[in-house]
Amino acid sequence: MHLDIPTLALVSLLMGIAASVGFTSLMAVLNTQKVLRIWVASIWVNTLGITLIGLRNHIPDVISIVVGNGLLVTGNILALKGIAQHLGLPMRWRWPCSLAAVYTSAIAWFAFASPNLGARLLAGSLQAMAFNFAYAYLLLRYSEPDIRKSCRIAGAVLMINGLFYLARVFVPLDPASSQDLTMAGMPVAATYVVGILATLASYFALLQLITERLMVDLRRAARTDGLTGLLNRSAIVAEGRAALERCLERGQPFALLIFDLDHFKQINDRWGHDAGDAVLRHVTQMLRKAIQWPHQLASRYGGEEFVVALPGATLVQGLEAAERLRLALAHSHARVGDQTIPVTASIGVATARQGTRFEHLVRQADQAMYRTKFDGRNGVSFAGDRDSRLAEAGDTRC
Ligand code: GH3
Ligand code: MG
Ligand code: MG
Repeated sequence: MHLDIPTLALVSLLMGIAASVGFTSLMAVLNTQKVLRIWVASIWVNTLGITLIGLRNHIPDVISIVVGNGLLVTGNILALKGIAQHLGLPMRWRWPCSLAAVYTSAIAWFAFASPNLGARLLAGSLQAMAFNFAYAYLLLRYSEPDIRKSCRIAGAVLMINGLFYLARVFVPLDPASSQDLTMAGMPVAATYVVGILATLASYFALLQLITERLMVDLRRAARTDGLTGLLNRSAIVAEGRAALERCLERGQPFALLIFDLDHFKQINDRWGHDAGDAVLRHVTQMLRKAIQWPHQLASRYGGEEFVVALPGATLVQGLEAAERLRLALAHSHARVGDQTIPVTASIGVATARQGTRFEHLVRQADQAMYRTKFDGRNGVSFAGDRDSRLAEAGDTRC
């Protein structure tokens, strides 16, 4: 079998072009995946680098060798930036950029000052190894739990790629090759074949990263209210049920608040629907500030009605949280443009007993909330047997 280096270089160039076009069209479909833009840029830059290197003897050597290799390493920096962004990490540019500068200078030195093909191949292997190990390290070390599976697979693939480039350091160059890469010999040609496979494997790894991130985003969108970013109704019911079950199993208390904004229709009528939306976002901010309970579940249950579950909270703690929220809202005004819009809420609180179902708890809190409305709004009521609950709560009714 004869492995012809120019043919292998052509295959790797065509594969780069196909991947660039393929990932670009994927980017057009998955336009919410911002990180894909960086990876697509990285693949295009790499492909351009391979093209310039492949045009050796047809274009000036400085462009083919120095600019071509400079583009290859720039593509690797962009890929690293993409991985850092995917993992939500800040990119530290200093090390990769220094490595790129040293690499490109070494390539220029061994091309013109002291021509040495073996040294250039060695430098190429070392920089590819360093970048692959860096990708793998970030993916294996910093992945969040919800995208861990794809990060582990991609990390393993890129680690193997790094080991391959490390092994390539020891592959001997045919002594008869002089400075001609096409005469580098069978072992070097074999590394080109493995290099093509390694690149292909890294494209699949990339696809897995994108797919799992997409699934996480879709899952999150399906449980989130678009306007406020809180949980939506079906998510609070599902997650609230599970949290309540856990608390009851462990004999822990569980409090639930419902609040409904007072005279919200008038806000819409007077200031407009957009202002009403802004008020809902303002209320969400106040809710986040006023109630900070471990593992709390906060949702927009519908229109201008919110449900907050506080696993582990007693009635007293639930009432305290409700009162904090009521005061925070009553003392803050939503700022919309140059308008300030007052907003208050009527709150109902209920707590679970053994055997209480989540839906039942919501109904109880809802009834309490309607009592607050009836009593004049901007207040807190709690559900259930009045006297025993008052004793339990230390009579903190507001
Ligand atoms: P009450 O004090 O009795 O609760 O009076 P209210 O005006 O708040 O209650 P009502 O149920 O009459 O009105 C609720 C209004 O909330 C009606 C609806 O147009 C408005 N609304 C529901 N969802 C949204 C939304 O997403 N954005 C905006 N801007 N308004 C909404
Ligand atoms: Mg209302
Ligand atoms: Mg309502």
